[in-house]
Amino acid sequence: MQETAYDVVILGAGPAGSNLARRIDSRAMRVLLVDGEPLRGEKVCAGLLSPDAQDLLAAYDISLPRELLVTPQLFSVRTIDLACDTVRHYRRNYMNIDRAAFDRFLRGMVPPTVTKLQARATRVWQTDSGYQVETVADGRTETLTCRYLIGADGASSLVRRSLFPGRRLLQYTAIQQWFPAGESNPYYSCIFDAETSPGCSWIFFKNGQMIFGGAFEKQGCRAAFEKQKQRLIARGFVSASAFCAPQRTEACLVSRPRLLGDILLGRGGAFLVGEAAGLISPSSFEGISYALASSEALAASLSLASSEKEALRLYRRRAAPLCRKVRLRCLKRPFMYHPPLRRLILKTGLCALQMKGEA
Ligand SMILES: Cc1cc2nc3c(=O)[nH]c(=O)nc-3n(C[C@H](O)[C@H](O)[C@H](O)COP(=O)(O)OP(=O)(O)OC[C@H]3O[C@@H](n4cnc5c(N)ncnc54)[C@H](O)[C@@H]3O)c2cc1C
Repeated sequence: MQETAYDVVILGAGPAGSNLARRIDSRAMRVLLVDGEPLRGEKVCAGLLSPDAQDLLAAYDISLPRELLVTPQLFSVRTIDLACDTVRHYRRNYMNIDRAAFDRFLRGMVPPTVTKLQARATRVWQTDSGYQVETVADGRTETLTCRYLIGADGASSLVRRSLFPGRRLLQYTAIQQWFPAGESNPYYSCIFDAETSPGCSWIFFKNGQMIFGGAFEKQGCRAAFEKQKQRLIARGFVSASAFCAPQRTEACLVSRPRLLGDILLGRGGAFLVGEAAGLISPSSFEGISYALASSEALAASLSLASSEKEALRLYRRRAAPLCRKVRLRCLKRPFMYHPPLRRLILKTGLCALQMKGEA
């Protein structure tokens, strides 16, 4: 077994980890970026880049290459409430992107001064002088030693589970299925149906494929997913033939932060960023902007601080607006997910687009 020492180990090279590795002062510190996934395939994600994420990329002066954009680009979200049989369209300026390509793009911007390791972390623990991370790659086990350990490892964060065991996040199982998009009605649809999900489900289109997905209670998630499809067919929103030949099915966990206690930025020399910190919208599950913004806040804090304590204090201060934003979304959530309130909002058409051809 080999043992290697770093100043900073970043576990996870999604948007949060890659952006942190790109922004941290890796000439002054020995930084290692570890990820277990080669990022060849697709990621379970709607792949919609929110205006907030676009603003952050703009602030970095980053422009996206054409290959990252997919067809169609959308200007609205079609909201369907199955309980009150109401459909409304709301303006949204998302960019429809290839999510795996976007993550690869961000990874590609990590400077050569950061060491990269493709390995799965299996264990993390605290020592007298810092942290240790056990990784496995190609059957080989390695133990890494570091002063700062960063959990940028997403919804099922090993760092959060191991070092902060009392601070588990509420999680749903997200399931997505890919179909050939024969009959294309290319809206991004968001479906509310309390019969199947405490969250929502969605349909969107990418380069000739229709993708149906949803966030479901962990127990019975697959049955709820199938039931949701059947209910959409029965109400005439999707034809049975559109759902008949799935090309792929994928699942992962998605976090849903609650108002108090779920956002966790770190302790000692261990820090959390992105979804591992509980920074994701509890209403829309939009998380890329939070991953980018929190990693920026931590990169700046680590570069300025001379001790673990100071780094945490600076990170808390810099991430405060982000934490407030998640908490505000937690307050907004009941309006979206409480059926009578939602029905009222949808029926009145508040903030909805007036569609041509609608009475
Ligand atoms: C179904 C679904 C749809 C979504 N749609 C959108 C959307 O349209 N727009 C949006 O903005 N957000 C969306 N999100 C949320 C968004 O995907 C996440 O919030 C965002 O990816 C968080 O970024 P992150 O870097 O914190 O974590 P992740 O992107 O989850 O990255 C974590 C990284 O850590 C690695 N990792 C984890 N554990 C280990 C380990 N033990 N060892 C080694 N590596 C490890 C993983 O391989 C991964 O690369 C969606 C989420 C889901 C589930």
